Amino acid sequence: MLPLVYSTKEVARTGLGWRRMGHNVCYYQNHIKRRTGYYYTASFQVTARQPATSHHHHLHSTSTSTSTTTTTSSPSFQIRFLHADDVCYLAYCHPYTMSDLGAYLKGLEDDPKTRKRFRRRPLCETLAGNTVELLTITSFTAEPDALASRKGVVVSARVHPGETNASYMMKGIIDYLTGPSLDAKILRDNFVFKIIPVLNPDGVVVGNYRCSLAGLDLNRMWKDPSKRLTPTVWHAKQMMKRLSEDRELVLFCGAMGRVSDVVAPHMHTLRLSSPPLLPLQTSTATRASTTSSATAASRRVSPTAASPR
Ligand SMILES: [Zn+2]
Repeated sequence: MLPLVYSTKEVARTGLGWRRMGHNVCYYQNHIKRRTGYYYTASFQVTARQPATSHHHHLHSTSTSTSTTTTTSSPSFQIRFLHADDVCYLAYCHPYTMSDLGAYLKGLEDDPKTRKRFRRRPLCETLAGNTVELLTITSFTAEPDALASRKGVVVSARVHPGETNASYMMKGIIDYLTGPSLDAKILRDNFVFKIIPVLNPDGVVVGNYRCSLAGLDLNRMWKDPSKRLTPTVWHAKQMMKRLSEDRELVLFCGAMGRVSDVVAPHMHTLRLSSPPLLPLQTSTATRASTTSSATAASRRVSPTAASPR
């Protein structure tokens, strides 16, 4: 997968925003040792598309950036910018902002068909006062007895704000569950889906990769969340407890952008991980680590954590 580049000048000139560019993409184990193995390095080169002749003289601004951290893999990359005096942005996955989510949910609400298939309300507020959205998707027209017999499914995304690909997975899930297919109708007739599209809005707004505004990895807070410090996780657990008082909660799934981030409070685990970079190499790793990471995730979550009664 190629890195994404957004050139302000190119947008003004052609109207084209984020685009994948570059070549010579590599991903390899580097020399930094850690206790459980090695870190890996991703390297790639981004070179400008051959511009119009009149822009040739702009093709001289070249810069190199290398970053290494002690906690993650260490990508290195080289970029040849398209224009001089340009403002450019780089991403490993297409951005998905809170504004994108707001526009998407408004579109669902404005559509007379999808509007009937879900309800939207705030789950809670974050430390910064941002709203955490909660969607309920089921067949609302059914009789109370039929409603009561349905099982519960909870799906969340963006607990790690930088894993924007999780939002595209989530969009696919919501599109499908609120869609016109017979399969989706059968699911709505038999389940109550509780969807938290963005569990860490503060992190998304300020551009954190992994943490909340309090500097905490919220996906490590499920066991003992704080109402004050980690309100989104606390309220999500309360919601799941209430849900499990009314019906059996058969699945809680966090849509992630990394392989090892799946939380499984119950036997049923749906894997939605998709690798952020280089699907060929990392999908091999996904298969190899499926058993061990699922086991590790089960171990991390205490039996009382969001467990159904
Ligand atoms: Zn994650």
